[in-house]
Amino acid sequence: MSVHVSVRPREVRAPPEPYKVKVVEAIPDPSLEQREAALVRGGFNLFNLTSDEVHIDLLTDSGTSAMSDRQWSAMMVGDESYAGSRNFARFEATVQTLTGFPHVIPTHQGRAAENLLFSTLVRAGHIVPNNMHFDTTRTHVLRNGATPVNLVVRAAYDCDDPAPFKGNVDVDRLERLLDGEGRGKVPLVMVTLTNNTGGGQPVSLRNLEEVSTVCRAASVPLYLDMCRWAENAYFIRERERGQGSRSIREIGRSIFDLAEGATMSAKKDGLVNIGGFLVTRDAALADKLREALIVFEGFPTYGGLARRDLEAMAVGLEEATELPYLEHRIGQVRYLAALLDAEGIPFMRPPGGHGIYLDARRFLPHLGRKELPGQALVVEIYREGGVRTVEVGGIMFGDADGGTEISEPLELVRLAIPRRVYSASHLEFVAEVIAKVHRRRNEIRGMRMVHAPEHLRHFTARFEPLAPPAPAEGAVASARPRRAARSRGSRPA
Ligand SMILES: *Cc1c(COP(=O)(O)O)cnc(C)c1O
Repeated sequence: MSVHVSVRPREVRAPPEPYKVKVVEAIPDPSLEQREAALVRGGFNLFNLTSDEVHIDLLTDSGTSAMSDRQWSAMMVGDESYAGSRNFARFEATVQTLTGFPHVIPTHQGRAAENLLFSTLVRAGHIVPNNMHFDTTRTHVLRNGATPVNLVVRAAYDCDDPAPFKGNVDVDRLERLLDGEGRGKVPLVMVTLTNNTGGGQPVSLRNLEEVSTVCRAASVPLYLDMCRWAENAYFIRERERGQGSRSIREIGRSIFDLAEGATMSAKKDGLVNIGGFLVTRDAALADKLREALIVFEGFPTYGGLARRDLEAMAVGLEEATELPYLEHRIGQVRYLAALLDAEGIPFMRPPGGHGIYLDARRFLPHLGRKELPGQALVVEIYREGGVRTVEVGGIMFGDADGGTEISEPLELVRLAIPRRVYSASHLEFVAEVIAKVHRRRNEIRGMRMVHAPEHLRHFTARFEPLAPPAPAEGAVASARPRRAARSRGSRPA
């Protein structure tokens, strides 16, 4: 698949890679017919594609990082003892040094840490505030009978607002919730760094200080979803007064000092393909969490992982705090943003830490929300160039899973950039593919969901393109899927 790269504006330079290549992996190049067939077979849900059907994979930045030579060599010193492995000791010391939290509980990934924390602290009738819940976080809150509430600042919902910290919590609303309907019903407050659901936007240190003060006054513990904390710290260093000469690790300690604990998916800023942890200052809670850990994950010195994974995670957590790495990482996101900007393509601004979030409603203004513009765009980007992305909008966060949370007004398509994986020319290719889709945007039709599971439905839902408006054909094409959907008991959006 080759394209003529025309979108690169003269003044935009790609950030130089702070690494060189030692091992390569060939990438597949499916033909248009193969891509069309894959879409039909996969029910127009790109989670159902095989990797051989994908040319450039921007589905997620989670667990898709390239490990360094230091991480690979760490894998070779695995001490695979069930209990008391020396890899755990190193991992624990690294996390303690980076975060300052004394109790470190390893898990196989972030949602396992969420499961332990929420199943221990959250009960039916509880309310859990967050700046914005991530999909798995929200589902854990719902599964425990509680209500997730998003308290992010209003600017988060405006793709054009250039505010530097659009992941911030609306502190007044938090205070009112804790004083009012939430009194006695909020077991913890969470803040997600960076705000994945809202475009990977950062939270300021100042905002975290205010949230921490409000939580302390209400005697409610503050927990961080720290998946992308190093990227968040980079933005604080760049944008917040007085932070410019501090290291990522120093800023990190200032962040963590404000909280009672955190959940982590090391598949993000841990630069590993699998791993996570839960940290807390609360010794009594840590004992309870370890009991649950043994039931669900494994003994506290491995937590659902091979010990070599812990060693690689310790190295990755440190590498993710290095400035040359972060400059290139955030620089790649900005490079892609500049290429898209030159084509007048609408996306969430300013660009966040781990990817570009296209504004699907402005990209496809002729499609109403019910016509699933985000999914329609995901499908067209794949059809055009084999680039896999994901909808972050009405399908991922709609109210079909019984939540009391109202659907949010954002309809985004995330282009998540895996860490240390793709080069500048890959990003140029992606920009060209999206520009081509943009040029034929008026011909793009909407989609309909024909199978909708109850929870986390974006992973397994199935879709169909809406029929073209030709009257006779349209009547037949639209009657069939509706019947099929009803007989399966699903709820089309
Ligand atoms: C990825 C992610 C999680 C869940 O982590 P997994 O390792 O995928 O289970 C939780 N919160 C946020 C913000 C995430 O991005």
